Amino acid sequence: MNPSIESLRNKKQDQKLEEFLSSRILTENGCLISPKQRIYYRKKVWFLPHLLYSLEHGEIPRYTRLIHSCKNPLCSALEHLYLGTKKGESELEKAEKELSKFYKSL
Ligand SMILES: [Zn+2]
Repeated sequence: MNPSIESLRNKKQDQKLEEFLSSRILTENGCLISPKQRIYYRKKVWFLPHLLYSLEHGEIPRYTRLIHSCKNPLCSALEHLYLGTKKGESELEKAEKELSKFYKSL
């Protein structure tokens, strides 16, 4: 059976994604930075961290945003990404702020 054009196209895009991922640079705080941030994948233009998060955890729900625990918006290391709400801060964000206040007060 011949593979459909659609599946060939998807395969090509997967290869492109692989190239993207292997071009990332690991920084000393464990961030993975890609020289290019936008990628066309499955009929959509994605911001790389969003694409990787979606592939790993499923679609990012409305009214939530992707937050980088490392504070580097270019980072696409999955361990550094979590979801927060658009309104206000997530519990984790609050906790992090409190923690940094605490350390500053020492
Ligand atoms: Zn990071």
